[in-house]
Amino acid sequence: MTSIPTSHSLLRIALIAHDGRKDQMIALAREFAPRLQACRICATGTTGGRLESEVGLEVERLLSGPLGGDLQIGARLAVGEVDAVVFLRDPMTPQPHEPDINALVRACDVHDVPCATNASTARLLLEQMLPRSA
Ligand code: PGA
Repeated sequence: MTSIPTSHSLLRIALIAHDGRKDQMIALAREFAPRLQACRICATGTTGGRLESEVGLEVERLLSGPLGGDLQIGARLAVGEVDAVVFLRDPMTPQPHEPDINALVRACDVHDVPCATNASTARLLLEQMLPRSA
């Protein structure tokens, strides 16, 4: 069951972008930066590094995707520790960790956790789920 957090707890969101989608992720994060600052963010290694240095967000950086970062997020999600996922996948480039990517998206479906895999859907998800800035 989806655990949409109450107004008393921080939204826990995972942000992941393949290399071909990282610029899009940065643009999205800039757009929603004030509201993302009010969340608990985790991200795969390289994505997280760019979110910190280019957007100034506080991010818990996990392993890089190809080294197991997607799996780490999937494991957290499976035990109820992630409320939403923005996973900007690059559909045009084969990825060495395709099984991990599928496992993460599957885990979202198994546990009914909102997961946006392109920028338009991500905007809808963030608009709906992020806390409103004061
Ligand atoms: P990265 O991982 O943020 O470390 O590049 C993303 C991915 O490829 O899944």
